[in-house]
Amino acid sequence: MAAPTAPVTLAELTAARELLARAASAGIDTPTAADELAAVRDLHALHRLADALYTRQVATADASRAARSEGHDMSDVIAELETDSARECQVAVMRARGIAAVPKLLRAYAAGEINRTNLDQAEYTLSYLRSRLSAPAFASATTEVIDEARRLTPAFFKRRARQIRLRHDEEAARKHRANAAAAAQQAHEQRRLKVTTAGPALSISGQGSAQAAEAILAALNRRARIIRAKQINAGQQVTPLCARLFDALLALCTEDNAHYPTAASLLGAKVAPDARPDEMRELVLCADTTPFDLGRSARLADIRLRTLVLARDGGCLYPGCTEHRELCEIAHLVSWARGGETNLSNLAALCPHHHWVTEHEAYDPFHYSAIALPGGIPAIIPPLRIDPTQTPLIHERFDKHRRSLPPPLKDAG
Ligand SMILES: [Zn+2]
Repeated sequence: MAAPTAPVTLAELTAARELLARAASAGIDTPTAADELAAVRDLHALHRLADALYTRQVATADASRAARSEGHDMSDVIAELETDSARECQVAVMRARGIAAVPKLLRAYAAGEINRTNLDQAEYTLSYLRSRLSAPAFASATTEVIDEARRLTPAFFKRRARQIRLRHDEEAARKHRANAAAAAQQAHEQRRLKVTTAGPALSISGQGSAQAAEAILAALNRRARIIRAKQINAGQQVTPLCARLFDALLALCTEDNAHYPTAASLLGAKVAPDARPDEMRELVLCADTTPFDLGRSARLADIRLRTLVLARDGGCLYPGCTEHRELCEIAHLVSWARGGETNLSNLAALCPHHHWVTEHEAYDPFHYSAIALPGGIPAIIPPLRIDPTQTPLIHERFDKHRRSLPPPLKDAG
């Protein structure tokens, strides 16, 4: 609810007229540079004064419903004067009402103490606070807002005005904090990291809370700075920041992995640390029982069994599947529910999709299933409708190791 506004007085119109007369007559015959500048200053003061008077007059005429005499609203009158849209004209009337309701604000603007951007921001802030504050609290907020509008540039005043609104409006401040917390919580719940590879191209993308992003960037930046210092101290050329951030990520990942066993370390000293995947596969196939077997003591494979299974299978064992090995699950071939043991010989790597596809008893007539062939090679058994002989399907990664395969286990019919 806006306070009543005062109509423009004769004294104010006289002041405006005097400014105009002085500017217009400045050195009419032989204008000097000083005369021209004096005219600029007078016209600028007139411009301000006229704008202030116009704003107040719009508010006054709107309050008295003067436009009704022409069968209009006040915004229709403005629409005749301006080329703005109907909505913009309505906003202009509301703005005039808001500004005229705070005479102190309008006077400061007319006197050239507040710029137009801050005037609008102050009007918005005071209109916002008027309905939320008691009269004395609103009076003190008004003083503060006008003082800050005088003092600050628009960008700073905008921020300051927002702080004032939040400080004076506990409910809005609470809502603001709750919104920020909810947004952070939502960002956290939707967190994800996607890593894809295609040949040498690596793509990492993700989303999460700002707090998590901060922590990740801080860790990478710390590491990148250490890399830079090492390069400088070694007299090397400093690599670009983007390359150092990549190296930092790699360093963090490989340092973490130092805590985990490798298949080579688990299988003992006879394996060279740089053994080829094929050699590792052969070694794990030979070690069909290991001291790491868990039997029925644990349902899930531990990190050592997982390492050995991945070294043997090299990824999802479903023929043709190229899902990355690190995204594979370690599946029981004879399921845990049917008494299967958590042993190397009863475990195989399957991507989540193929794990789901093959989760059936061995040689299920209607579904795919997974078994271990004698010799340790895991295989897929197709359903009868795909292959009436249900011949085991072996991933091409095991091609070199087929020599140890026995003849088919099950004949058709
Ligand atoms: Zn797969």
